[in-house]
Formats: sequence, structure tokens, C-alpha cells
Amino acid sequence: MAVKGLGEYDDQNVFARILRGEIPCKKIYEDEWALAFHDISPQAPIHVLVIPKGKWISVADFSSHGSTDEVAGFWRVVAHVAKKLGLWESGYRLVANMGEHGGQEVPHFHVHLFGGRPLGRMLE
Ligand code: IMP
Repeated sequence: MAVKGLGEYDDQNVFARILRGEIPCKKIYEDEWALAFHDISPQAPIHVLVIPKGKWISVADFSSHGSTDEVAGFWRVVAHVAKKLGLWESGYRLVANMGEHGGQEVPHFHVHLFGGRPLGRMLE
């Protein structure tokens, strides 16, 4: 079910439950700002999700209740994970789906990191 709009944060969404340890994940990295784990349904040889610890639904929440430290901490984890997976040289793709038109299914902000093969051009 796609997210209809940017409303109240749902504490029962699957990523909130993963953050609380109620659902297992194949963890790659975690620190005080973010958690990175393998997507359960990979669309590329490497398909990782990076999620912030803060209760953000979309990037709009960065401005409403994300501190500069939280935002920077999150993006540093994205960069760190790409390096840890050996993708800095080959390249990779970041995607963040937002809301209904963006096709967002889990209402906790997340960045998909795809890599491990040439991904082609996206906007054709
Ligand atoms: P979205 O469409 O951008 O919201 O993507 C949600 C992603 O979460 C999809 O790629 C799903 O495969 C992934 N996903 C859903 N549940 C789990 C889970 O329990 N573990 C890991 N990935 C999940």
C-alpha cells in the first residue's frame, strides 16, 4: 500500500519495527544516526536501505524536525556504507521514493543504494 501523503508518523511501520529490533534485518552498519541493511527483495546485486534513526517520513521532515547533526549524520552513513561495500570506484545509485507519486511503500524515510552492476541510465 503506497503512502497517501505526509501525515503522522506511524510507529508500527516495518522500518520503525526494525529499528526497535522487533523484526530482524541483515545489518551492514549502524550508528547513532542511521541503520543500513540489505533490502529483503533486492533489485540489483547490491541493494541496501539506509534509514535514519529519526522519525522522518519524507525529506520534508528534514526541515521540520531534523537537526543539522541528524541530517549530516544520516548522509555520512550513506557515504560510509557505499565505501564499505566497495562502490566508490565502480559507482552506484541512490533513490529515495516520496509519497504516493514517488511510489513510497514504507512511511519511514529511506534511501535505496543500488550497485554491483552497470545500472544504465534512469531517466530515458
Ligand atoms: P519504497 O517503495 O521506497 O518504500 O521501498 C520499500 C523497500 O523496503 C522495498 O524495496 C522492500 O523490498 C523493502 N522492505 C520491506 N520490508 C522489508 C524488510 O523487512 N526488510 C528489508 N527490506 C524490506
